[in-house]
Amino acid sequence: MAWEPKVASPRARLALTAAIYFSALVLAPLVAALAVLVARQGSAEATREVFFNIAKWARFVAYGATGVVLMVLAAGPLLRARLWLLGKGEVRWDRPWERAKVFFLYGLGQGRLPNDLYAGLMHLLIFWGWTYLFIGTLMLAFHDDIKEFLKGNVYLGYSLALDIAGLAATVGVLMALYRRYVWKHPKMRLGSLWDDGMLLALMLAILLSGFLVEGMRVGVTELRGETIDVGDGLVTDPDWAPWSPVGFLIGKAALAAGASQTLMLNIHKAFWWLHLPLALGWVAWVGYGKLSHILLGAANIFFRRLSPTGAALAGAALVPIEDFEKAERFGAGRLVDFTWKQLMDVDVCVRCGRCEAHCPAYNTGKELTPMGFLQDMKAYMGQVGPKMWAARWRGQSWDEERAVAGDVVSFNTIWDCLTCGACEQQCPFFIEHIQKLIDMRRYLVMEEARMPETAQATLMQLEQRGHPWRGTQLTRTSWIEELAAQGLQVPIFDGSQEYLYWVGCTGALVERNVQVTKAMARLLLQAGVSFGVLGAEEVCSGDPARRLGNEYLFQLQAQQNIETFKAKGVRKIVANCPHCFNVMKNEYPQLGGRFQVVHHTQLLAQLISEGRLRVQDMGELWGVMVTYHDPCYLARHNDVLAAPRQVIAATGAQLVEMGRHRKHTFCCGAGGGHMWVEESGGRRVNHVRTEEAASTPARLIAVACPFCLQMFEEGVGSVPTAAQKGMSVLDVAEMLERSVVRPEVRRQA
Ligand code: SF4
Ligand code: SF4
Repeated sequence: MAWEPKVASPRARLALTAAIYFSALVLAPLVAALAVLVARQGSAEATREVFFNIAKWARFVAYGATGVVLMVLAAGPLLRARLWLLGKGEVRWDRPWERAKVFFLYGLGQGRLPNDLYAGLMHLLIFWGWTYLFIGTLMLAFHDDIKEFLKGNVYLGYSLALDIAGLAATVGVLMALYRRYVWKHPKMRLGSLWDDGMLLALMLAILLSGFLVEGMRVGVTELRGETIDVGDGLVTDPDWAPWSPVGFLIGKAALAAGASQTLMLNIHKAFWWLHLPLALGWVAWVGYGKLSHILLGAANIFFRRLSPTGAALAGAALVPIEDFEKAERFGAGRLVDFTWKQLMDVDVCVRCGRCEAHCPAYNTGKELTPMGFLQDMKAYMGQVGPKMWAARWRGQSWDEERAVAGDVVSFNTIWDCLTCGACEQQCPFFIEHIQKLIDMRRYLVMEEARMPETAQATLMQLEQRGHPWRGTQLTRTSWIEELAAQGLQVPIFDGSQEYLYWVGCTGALVERNVQVTKAMARLLLQAGVSFGVLGAEEVCSGDPARRLGNEYLFQLQAQQNIETFKAKGVRKIVANCPHCFNVMKNEYPQLGGRFQVVHHTQLLAQLISEGRLRVQDMGELWGVMVTYHDPCYLARHNDVLAAPRQVIAATGAQLVEMGRHRKHTFCCGAGGGHMWVEESGGRRVNHVRTEEAASTPARLIAVACPFCLQMFEEGVGSVPTAAQKGMSVLDVAEMLERSVVRPEVRRQA
């Protein structure tokens, strides 16, 4: 098992990343600047002959070949782009300044580095090393052909900075070779493509031949031990040699080994002529194969989605369905149903494995692998795309032989996705996996009526009864009547109140979740919040229908809710369920419903900070160790991280974090409609997460989502380590209620 740096704390990751960036961005220029300052007096003449020991005509060969190579390079992305254009249109160039910012942060800056420290560091060394070498080569050409400026201390600093850059790139390439061929990191499980190893070998050859050329030049000029004339009136000085430290060591070694001047000049010339075509070949390669990610990955980052991930769960290019019968096609079943950006995503993936390393479906043994399905689509696009493009060019129609949804990408793959977003959060190129999977799911459901039995039963239940909970004995007003029987009147929303308290199907119709709803209502009443509920008028938010691919049903339910909200004058909504919260906050605006939506943890944190909910000292949970599970739809998709922790802290409970927490949380297993869809195989996701909770010293698991509550309730009864500890699960609202509400009120309940 090779060493891999593990930095769990987000702050530590940030600090480490900042330190690495600082070194990459500042170190080389800093060294150069220092060299300028500290180089000895008398080095004012320092410089070198650019085409030393090389025939004069060689420069014409070099520049001519560079022109050809640049044309070859440009052809690569153009050939690739024609395949993306087989897809549908999509605007991805709005808000250019915002895009430019993202590009600098994550494209040039590679801001997702901390997600995988070994690979990130390795990539950073190669990227910045190579970038400085490239800039150095351009500077040399400028110096040689336009204006001589690499002289004196500037030259010495330049020389030192480029040697450091070359060394950094060499270390990075060696790390990559080690990771791929010695360590055989699990993320490399798909093996190597034809160019993976060749590329690394080529880069190593370029770097080593470059150092060898430098070493021989330094050996026969600067290291001769005296100031000599090397032609064209240039002199060299042994004091300059250490400013090219790698060349200095190589030159010294060659001289110590007794190499003659002639031999060193011959080696210099031979490797110079080897280095040139290798370097130019590398540049040409940038347009093709794996190396093209330098250009295409950066472009993909520029064209990334700018909306919050919670809004993008809807799928791509979604438009309200005016007339179901007349709608052309739903979802994406074939290559041409995807947008150009979705096809570009597929093409840009470099099989780095970061997405699947964090995918709860893949990591519990399901068929889905986010990297794998992209690679399957990529292979298929590479196979039929050029033929499709040629047919389109000739004005002919082309019937694809295979459907993408359900064939190229398997049925289980499409249905295994929990829409947790871990894959998208990890991908260095901001590839959007969820949209593609949801679009394919939508195609299977709406065009082919292909779905797991459990999904079908849920959708039928939603259509027939307006909620997903089969067999419930409760109604949407049962909990209101129960509280009324205890003397607590829950107001019905009439437009005069500040908040609509959105209870949700699960909060009203599932016994365990009803306890959370009651706790929340009691807290709101205790704090004197102006609120009301819809009671019998509430219908499903539409989230389950959309996640399960029935877009038509989603739009019906969402539009009905939007009309109700508008008719009743709703402005602010508070919801317990992160799924309802997300759909209303991020997806209702797609249908014209814009409301101010908060999660119950946010409102509770606000009430505590305003002093409207006063916490008892030494309450029931004081000092109790608790671990909090971040729901994906709250933390990852909506950045609600602090509020639940503030509520927990207010109760006096002692929070211990699980390894995967905050935005790096691990799904409870219920996302993407999987509250109602049976898992296709492997281990149960909620059991894996419960085990993780049980591995902390906590005996209480705090949640902020009705689905998570059910998943953990089942988990603590089934997972031996949790059952042995006697773990229990509470929503943060229940925790707060135990800490603030007058005991006699709670006892009545
Ligand atoms: S959204 Fe989650 S479950 Fe779906 S592919 Fe990505 S990581 Fe896997
Ligand atoms: S989708 Fe992104 S994270 Fe996943 S393998 Fe491809 S490039 Fe890597």
